[in-house]
Amino acid sequence: MEVRTRFAPSPTGFMHLGNLRTALYTYLYARRMGGKFILRIEDTDQEREVPGAVDVIYNSLRTAGITHDEGPDVGGPCGPYIQSQRKDMYLPYAEKLVETGHAYYCFCTKERLDEARAEAEKKGEAYKYDKHCLSLSKEEVRRRLAAGESYVIRQNIPAEGKAGFDDAIYGHVEVDCSTLDDNVLIKADGLPTYNFANVIDDHTMGITHVMRGNEYLSSAPKYNLLYEAFGWTPPVYIHLTPVMVEGTYRNKKTGEYLMATDENGNHVLDENGDPVKAIVKRKLSKSQGDPSFEDLLSEGYLTEAIINYLVLLGWSPRGEREFFTLKELEETFDLEGLSKSPSFFDKAKLTWFNAEYIRKLSPEAFLEAAAPWLAKALDPAKFDFKRLSELLQARTEVLCQLPDMVDFLAKMPDFDNALYTHKKMKTNPEVAKAALETLRPVLEGVPESDWNETTLHDTVLAAVAESGMKNGQALWPLRIAISGRENTPGGAFEIAYLLGKEETMRRLDASLRKL
Ligand code: GLU
Repeated sequence: MEVRTRFAPSPTGFMHLGNLRTALYTYLYARRMGGKFILRIEDTDQEREVPGAVDVIYNSLRTAGITHDEGPDVGGPCGPYIQSQRKDMYLPYAEKLVETGHAYYCFCTKERLDEARAEAEKKGEAYKYDKHCLSLSKEEVRRRLAAGESYVIRQNIPAEGKAGFDDAIYGHVEVDCSTLDDNVLIKADGLPTYNFANVIDDHTMGITHVMRGNEYLSSAPKYNLLYEAFGWTPPVYIHLTPVMVEGTYRNKKTGEYLMATDENGNHVLDENGDPVKAIVKRKLSKSQGDPSFEDLLSEGYLTEAIINYLVLLGWSPRGEREFFTLKELEETFDLEGLSKSPSFFDKAKLTWFNAEYIRKLSPEAFLEAAAPWLAKALDPAKFDFKRLSELLQARTEVLCQLPDMVDFLAKMPDFDNALYTHKKMKTNPEVAKAALETLRPVLEGVPESDWNETTLHDTVLAAVAESGMKNGQALWPLRIAISGRENTPGGAFEIAYLLGKEETMRRLDASLRKL
């Protein structure tokens, strides 16, 4: 049997990291099993539709390297792959269920349903449709349909007994049918609900393994009843545990943050006396301010690092290995490694992964990735980006850090003379002043045409040796004097080279005047 998996996103306008992880697992499993991976766009909830949102899905998958074998843009034998274009397919299936007694027409008005819902709410009970229209005679149904009355088609859940299914992660899941609602399968506008469409689509697309978020776990027994009603073999279900995060929580309606309180219910205050936000465990959520895939990319996280991190968020390979390319994952991924407990998104861990990936890039690849970020702070015509990127690669964790790491080259920062004080280097402003005064004519004497790191190194170190200073006592002050920063990519010679002679001398003189 060929394995056929599907990723079935709803177009929301961004790629939620939890969804990307689902896409990845679904894709990897198909590849590992030599099967097919199908993309299906679930856009029947037209009210929630965001323009351009389908393109976001294509672009995200393409960026991630997740390629589908069948889908709206590449076609395939089970098309169309966009749910809204399949809308005429569902009604005949629902009518078949009506014939066999597994579904029924319902003409209840909105008022009647609202009333029943309000009633249940008043009693503190979960609302369930009361099967009112199940008792309508065939003739009456026929008459009301012919009269053009508005209707929906509902699933007829058995009044008693159990409904269950086997899940690859959760094991056997079973519920009492009496707890299940007779869900709408076909809405008054003739369109299917998600509950119905996913079953029809998965079956007609030959899906063998359904992997999705565990928010669908409680509905799966109903889906299984539908498979049984049709006499179809259900797919293997794999409901994934959610991606959680420890973070702040804000009320969606009021926009207010949940604040931390102590055991007496008082606000916890920070050192400034301001109330502190509470940190809670909750689902990863874009609307709570957590990043989407696109957000991470635009912050300068590398695709490969995000993918590697995400795949391990809920799946453990056999062995200790942590680094995998997508290709390697295609050969390694298995269902056995999927976690039974929720996993926590940890940006610091992702950042660590990213730094490792940055270090592994070839110098050329790093330069290419870094250049647009360097250009945010520096004019590429004025600075040697190649040299700069060599100096930066080992110390960059995320590309978005780069502008801040180099902006001192564009503009000398204000700095305090206290920066000259360094215990280990045995320097202080006084030592610095003497050192800089000694070095000034030495640097002045290096011709513009020889202004490179080797010449600067040899010339300056010779002069330092001659003067009897320790290297640190001269080089620490020199670097501070021309960078204004305690930490810089590269030392005094690299920075002097990057700045060029004119700017180096100008900064040196300005710093000397301050001493
Ligand atoms: N369209 C659903 C979602 O985006 C997919 C659910 C499923 O995979 O069956 O949550």
